Amino acid sequence: MNIEQHMRFFELAAVRFRQELDNLSELDSALGDGDHGASMLKGFSMIWEKISQQTYQDIGTLWMDAGKILMKEVGGTCGPLFATILIKGGFSARGAQDTDAGRLAEMLHAGSEGVQTLGKASPGDKTMVDALAPAARAMDEAAGAGAGLEDALCCAVRAARDGAAATKDMLASRGRGRYQAENAIGHVDPGAVSVCILLESLYEASKTA
Ligand code: ADP
Ligand code: MG
Repeated sequence: MNIEQHMRFFELAAVRFRQELDNLSELDSALGDGDHGASMLKGFSMIWEKISQQTYQDIGTLWMDAGKILMKEVGGTCGPLFATILIKGGFSARGAQDTDAGRLAEMLHAGSEGVQTLGKASPGDKTMVDALAPAARAMDEAAGAGAGLEDALCCAVRAARDGAAATKDMLASRGRGRYQAENAIGHVDPGAVSVCILLESLYEASKTA
């Protein structure tokens, strides 16, 4: 996946967060304060507005810049956490002109580790980690088994979707969802859905010429 395709990823993500605004708002209303969709839309719209005016020489710098924009523009919990995915992922790809399945697996892994270090959530806590950690693992396994980028990303998307779906039956022990106790059961975590949206956007971008 080259720099143009990574730019396309951010463009598609901004479009998807606009389409998913109501859905994410509803999910966050059940578990939190209802702002998640608006935060993600604001952040990724701002990322696209700013990066589309720049020329990037490498994928790492592009991702790190995007992360810094998110960090600056979006407060709450999700701003710094999603910014961490981009900054840590970008750091691991600094200097790269292209990302194959192995490199993208490293980026997702670095992002996932960064989020868990910062937010202290583990798999099973009903957060974005429940989609991100299995996606990073699936990407890694697929890359290790010799899969191409598109196939490996397809595995990552599937793992993220399964992980997000599994949050429905979990009790939340991190984030605002923990105030809901068992009332949170039956609701999918919005941050996990946002991880799916990002991976789906990456997958779509990888298929573009
Ligand atoms: P806020 O909780 O500040 O309103 P958002 O609504 O934008 O932030 O984001 C909520 C999402 O953030 C949750 O759905 C969850 O996935 C994620 N989240 C919350 N706390 C944590 C944490 N400690 N670690 C990882 N993700 C978290
Ligand atoms: Mg919220």
